[in-house]
Amino acid sequence: MASLDIVHYGDPILRKKCDSIKKFDELDIIIDHMFDSMYEQEGIGLAANQVGLDMNLFIIDITHTEEEEDTYIFINSEILGFSGQETKYQEGCLSLPGMALEVIRPENVILKYQTIDQKWHQNEFSGLMSRAIQHEIDHLNGVFIVDRISESEKIKYKNQLRLLEDNTKKKIGISANQNKFIL
Ligand SMILES: [Zn+2]
Repeated sequence: MASLDIVHYGDPILRKKCDSIKKFDELDIIIDHMFDSMYEQEGIGLAANQVGLDMNLFIIDITHTEEEEDTYIFINSEILGFSGQETKYQEGCLSLPGMALEVIRPENVILKYQTIDQKWHQNEFSGLMSRAIQHEIDHLNGVFIVDRISESEKIKYKNQLRLLEDNTKKKIGISANQNKFIL
């Protein structure tokens, strides 16, 4: 199975609110590709726009922890609410290579989503699962972890972000029109 290239900070698809999914056929192939990309980069979560796809879809695998035994696929997700205390935790991001930031988020999240069988679910998640869900939902809404830190803290990463953005723009220029996803 082939993996898809991860797109980085500076690519416009990462600033877009992703479209909801209506066609579920062939979705399993896309999801397989996404898992391959995520494992290749040693990530624990991946949103579809991180591989250049404008779709409300993300995957999470935290089976290396005690918390979850299964991998998760979330389709057409929407956060219905938060609860618990706000906690600070260091997050990395496959679209921001080399950066790790302390991000404050609510402890629990209530999520409405579809699974691959098109069934709707509503569940509350906590712990690392909640953290990962909130990170990926941010991606699907065009939000990065750098948008979740204070302006004064953001200044520290200004040069790093500019460099990343420049590299991404160069890469998009070179691979324009040959960067389409082919099933
Ligand atoms: Zn990320």
